[in-house]
Amino acid sequence: MSLLVVGSIAFDSVETPFGKVEEAIGGSAMFFSASASYFTDVKLVAVVGEDFPEAEIDFLQSRDVDCQGLHRKEGKTFRWEGKYGFDLNEAITLDTQLNVFGDFHPELPEDYRDAKSVFLANIDPELQLEVLEQVRDPDFVAADTMNYWIDGKRDALEAVLARVDMAVINESEARKLADESNMVQAARAIQKLGPRHVVIKRGEYGALCFADDEICFAPAYPLESVFDPTGAGDTFAGGLLGYLSRQGQFRPRDLRQATVLGCVMASFCVEDFSLESLRELDFNIIERRFEKFQRLVNFEPLELLDE
Ligand code: AMP
Repeated sequence: MSLLVVGSIAFDSVETPFGKVEEAIGGSAMFFSASASYFTDVKLVAVVGEDFPEAEIDFLQSRDVDCQGLHRKEGKTFRWEGKYGFDLNEAITLDTQLNVFGDFHPELPEDYRDAKSVFLANIDPELQLEVLEQVRDPDFVAADTMNYWIDGKRDALEAVLARVDMAVINESEARKLADESNMVQAARAIQKLGPRHVVIKRGEYGALCFADDEICFAPAYPLESVFDPTGAGDTFAGGLLGYLSRQGQFRPRDLRQATVLGCVMASFCVEDFSLESLRELDFNIIERRFEKFQRLVNFEPLELLDE
């Protein structure tokens, strides 16, 4: 089942306590596509400016990402500047320049319109809606968002949420969206806005998946060094949706495995700056880390010994 994604492609300038990078390749759709491409065929909808390197489009194509829906427009590519303190779970946005995204209206290539699974990555919810309008009969739609849009385009965002099967959102954004500090209650409140399933990304504390009324938890992989958390959320979503779309099944067991695969892919992402660690993975490496996750959360059944 091919997977359509719409989202941002960006130059990211990021500072963490461990280093700094100027204008690295990023954006929600970029991380998502690279990650999901290890599981399924991805059809990308996004826009870049004249300054975006052709080599990065070649990279996506080398991963079999369909770039027919990637538009190049006059002007500059979207830019995001952020920093992280020692708490790498929370990015502080310093600057957002929409540039070519400012007046972008995606026109889907004809063969994108029959996509069966769709991921509306973090982007202006009005654009997410425009894409949804053009997809004919999807089986599964998921959406992400962030504070910037929760504050600035609440109505459009609620219209998106009313039409999706799954929200994939980080913890602080879930609190803000639901106006609720308890995570279980926040997820339930978001489910009331539309999505049957809510996946909450919790940075170094892993992810919670509320699939209908079942809850499952996947840890984050305990790495010795986390370099740059930028893109971890989108990479997580790429593993999650990439796997679901490949399997074409959305049962609770598939959602559990997909949540773990999301954490597996995010664990690679944070080991290096930008997209670097997602460029040359292979399925064996992914599978080996998945097995490490299994060992991480596997415990023996409770058996009381005779006194
Ligand atoms: P995350 O996966 O949550 O770390 O998302 C990081 C990515 O989101 C970065 O590569 C940014 O370029 C992108 N981003 C930041 N702000 C926005 C925004 N307002 N709209 C779309 N994408 C954004």
